[in-house]
Amino acid sequence: MRPYFSAVEVHAAAREVGVGAGARLGEVATALRGTGLAAPVGVHPTVGVGLMLQGGLGRLARTHGLSVDAIAAAEVVTPDGNLRYLRAGSSGISMSAEDDELLWALRGAAPNFAVVTRVVLRCADVSRPVCAVRGAHFFAKDEDGAGGHNSALTLLGSYAAAADALPAVQSIDAIIGRDSRGALGIALQAVSLNADLRFPPEVEALLGVSASMAAAAECAVKCAYDDIPHLTLDGAPVVSDERDLTIEAKGTGAVGSACMARRSSKGDQGADGVLSYVRQRFVAALTPSALAAILDACGAAPTTMCCVMVNHCGGAAREAQADACFAPRDLEHSVVVIALWTDPSSAARAACVAWAEALDTALGACCPA
Ligand SMILES: Cc1cc2nc3c(=O)[nH]c(=O)nc-3n(C[C@H](O)[C@H](O)[C@H](O)COP(=O)(O)OP(=O)(O)OC[C@H]3O[C@@H](n4cnc5c(N)ncnc54)[C@H](O)[C@@H]3O)c2cc1C
Repeated sequence: MRPYFSAVEVHAAAREVGVGAGARLGEVATALRGTGLAAPVGVHPTVGVGLMLQGGLGRLARTHGLSVDAIAAAEVVTPDGNLRYLRAGSSGISMSAEDDELLWALRGAAPNFAVVTRVVLRCADVSRPVCAVRGAHFFAKDEDGAGGHNSALTLLGSYAAAADALPAVQSIDAIIGRDSRGALGIALQAVSLNADLRFPPEVEALLGVSASMAAAAECAVKCAYDDIPHLTLDGAPVVSDERDLTIEAKGTGAVGSACMARRSSKGDQGADGVLSYVRQRFVAALTPSALAAILDACGAAPTTMCCVMVNHCGGAAREAQADACFAPRDLEHSVVVIALWTDPSSAARAACVAWAEALDTALGACCPA
């Protein structure tokens, strides 16, 4: 039974991928590798189909929408014990009004209505090279008389303004945290789904890319879509060999490195003993008070591994779809507050949970949602 539930089938001609309920995003990416297609899902390989059924934000969101918008069909077991195959539109299969409504509900609230045994996603064409550029800024504690806070706030303000001005084929994400000495750090990653399209000068400036360097492989990295590196706060430059479109990340191993890789998708116990507690919210804008709250919180986080990840949404992700019940559409950024710690005591957990909850609450108060 397991192979069926974890199987991923690529239907290249139909530009669709069928994903068993037991499969994870890494298996979807592996199955699609080399086909020139990508599913509009998240980027972390251990996450499961729950992502596709309740939103689903990834690098294709600004051009192709959320995962729920890409659900073409689903195989489900409903509470009455019946197995149903739901597919709307061009397949020629006409659905009952009830099944039509069920498919609408699955696109955002599936866990409330059915057990999904298989989901079929429409894929996007990603056969052209894409481009990823990364940069990191660290702010010394004595930098501006305010622990680096003012300089970091200025940079974050520039980042938020630059993000708002990007076309849908480009996006910019950020991680804000601290290094092991306690200095504030901001890592940025800009991705262009069209490698021929240069980033605006203000984005290149944020990433520390000078005009003359922008064409160099060390800075503006052409790569295959599924080779875009994960953003971490390690300040690592990205190098690539454009000839074979592969990528390698040259890590300096400073801090916060691979914090995302340490997070477990199941529960808060990471594989290497790192514990996590995460809060996420969509916001319509990154207001100055929200950016200040993020920096204040990062400066006072209970561990130096704690960080805040801001993922760029907007574009097609903001467009309400009549056939999807996923409601929040005024979403320009996803702000993910990530508390990470290793001390197994309940006091350490309580401090980290309180930190994440407090920042999330503060963001709710100062960001339009
Ligand atoms: C490391 C990490 C990275 C992440 N990155 C992203 C990202 O890039 N983009 C993004 O949008 N989100 C991201 N998330 C959030 C993620 O989308 C949610 O945590 C999601 O709920 C995970 O789904 P799951 O199947 O892995 O987890 P589970 O805990 O198994 O499921 C989560 C929910 O989905 C329901 N569900 C799962 N499978 C089914 C099914 N077959 N039928 C019906 N209901 C089902 C469960 O009942 C539960 O309510 C990330 C989370 C983690 C931990």
